[in-house]
Amino acid sequence: MQTRQALTILGSTGSVGVSTLDVVARHPERFRVIALTARDRADVLFAQCVRHRPRYAVLSQPHAADTLARRLKDAAVDTEVLCDDEALERVASLPEVDTVMAAIVGIAGLKPALAAARAGKKLLLANKEALVTAGAVLMQAARAGGAALLPIDSEHNAVFQALPANFSGDLAAVGVRRILLTASGGPFRLTPTDQLADVTPDAACAHPNWTMGRKISVDSATMMNKGLEVIEARWLFNAQPHQIEVVIHPESVVHSLVEYSDGSVIAQLGNPDMRTPIAHALGFPERITAGVDFLDLARVGALHFAAPDIARFPCLRLAYEALETGGAAPAILNAANEVAVARFLAGEIGYMDIPELLQAVLKLCESGPVENLEDVLAADRAARACAERCLGERSWHAAPAAKQLAPLANHSSEACS
Ligand code: NAD
Ligand code: MG
Repeated sequence: MQTRQALTILGSTGSVGVSTLDVVARHPERFRVIALTARDRADVLFAQCVRHRPRYAVLSQPHAADTLARRLKDAAVDTEVLCDDEALERVASLPEVDTVMAAIVGIAGLKPALAAARAGKKLLLANKEALVTAGAVLMQAARAGGAALLPIDSEHNAVFQALPANFSGDLAAVGVRRILLTASGGPFRLTPTDQLADVTPDAACAHPNWTMGRKISVDSATMMNKGLEVIEARWLFNAQPHQIEVVIHPESVVHSLVEYSDGSVIAQLGNPDMRTPIAHALGFPERITAGVDFLDLARVGALHFAAPDIARFPCLRLAYEALETGGAAPAILNAANEVAVARFLAGEIGYMDIPELLQAVLKLCESGPVENLEDVLAADRAARACAERCLGERSWHAAPAAKQLAPLANHSSEACS
């Protein structure tokens, strides 16, 4: 009998986390769960612990951790509940763990992903913000620790599958000319631009093809998600910015493509279901079943492609600019975006304020070099403070009022350190 892969799933209560457990549950002979983590959803984590019997469960909020510990004790489930500051890093680097699924959203997932990389784990990376903010640091940690980094983001997983098996970080050596990342265009691809200022958080989260967490859903609507993915691709595949192109593909069937110097273009296709890239990475290098519906091309009928409209999606341009600037610029962009999206989801700013805030913060925050984790976290803190100050100066309270205020850049004069 084969030894079972021992897993830590960071962010197990989220969209990717739940899909991961779905695939895991289909293969009890292959996988066993050592640790599950979440921020605050004690009820969902409790049910997952009952089902998967992990050795550890981490909840970042103490009140939720107490509730979980009590409920597990009452149910006689032998899972230890952890809540201290280092718990996520600890369960990501336990000696008995082989594979870590990094599916926390935002820069909150960076430290545990880094811990898994340093500990030489098989690291399944969904948390794109970790690579966006700390790409050089994370890739270096994976090399030094001997970690295998497998992309979970559907586009990057597709690129990984379309690259030759001997690819080792040199695109030219394997004849690659370009990486083409597909983008659905989100729910507002065809919305008249004069109506975008009034769109609601629920409308922004109603993605036409994918069911995802609310932060990434808003990022998909603004196309910041694709911008973050361009930066993610830069690090994963050691690509130059001009080698990464975005193409709109509303059906989300072609998950991405690799163009070779002889004119060949190799794509990965499938129904839009995150269980495919998750199963690919969990099973790698073997193929395992994922529970997805198989692709019926005759039923799909037609596939469409178009160039992205940069005027409609300024966030995509801002991401390319941050990538070109380098250093801390992507971390600054990410921090400002996390602040902007949280405020938009809370109904405190309008949809069109998101790119405006990002532009202002990128302009005000100095982008120094990034050599280590502390540099990344310092840039993140400074950019968040800058974003909050910009928002404060505009006294934003509710989305409708926000639309009527003057552009951010005119209001904030103080540079961020
Ligand atoms: P989600 O919001 O559904 O879930 C996030 C998970 O992280 C939850 O378990 C939550 O409890 C945990 N979490 C959130 N903040 C935390 C904090 N401060 N500390 C500790 N834990 C915290 O998000 P998601 O849609 O599953 O996305 C997860 C990551 O995967 C994101 O980086 C996203 O960009 C990426 N991703 C998601 C999809 C998708 O289809 N959902 C696709 C590609 C990439
Ligand atoms: Mg993606």
